[in-house]
Amino acid sequence: MITSDNKCSRCTGAKCCTYVTEALGAAPRSKNDFDQLLWQVSHQGTEIYKDSSGWYLLFHGRCQHLLADGGCAIYQDRPQICRDYDNAWCEYDAPAEEGFEFHFRNYDELLTYCRKRFKRWDKSRTEGRGKTGPRIKTGPRAKEKQDLGKEKLKIEASLNPDP
Ligand code: SF4
Ligand code: SF4
Repeated sequence: MITSDNKCSRCTGAKCCTYVTEALGAAPRSKNDFDQLLWQVSHQGTEIYKDSSGWYLLFHGRCQHLLADGGCAIYQDRPQICRDYDNAWCEYDAPAEEGFEFHFRNYDELLTYCRKRFKRWDKSRTEGRGKTGPRIKTGPRAKEKQDLGKEKLKIEASLNPDP
């Protein structure tokens, strides 16, 4: 008979050790919130879901300590979150997806949802961006480059004042 005490030793897949999740905090509501999520879900291995506890980011990635037989290479020193994990009802019993109210595995799935949720989604996103989309690259690195560019211009202006 499978019990909580012997379940993990029989679970060779150890699904719970192959991804991490991060709570989104406040539920996304505005177009800007979902625009940000579209960027996040565009990245390989990143998904978004909502269950009865709220909205989460899910990042696929096998834990480096997970052994081929499903054991943990650092079992005695494993992080507290692993110790606290309750296996009474886990992915050995049923896929976590069964409890999801929403599940977006990629950009297209979330975009379809956004178009249903916001009637003017496409129009509002293209307004002010021009026919071919934004001319300036967005994202953290691009923003950093823009800031550096502005700083460079300021320094050059101070070194070469107008005659
Ligand atoms: S908690 Fe569940 S999914 Fe994780 S190793 Fe144990 S039985 Fe497997
Ligand atoms: S540290 Fe061990 S128990 Fe925790 S996720 Fe990694 S393999 Fe699993």
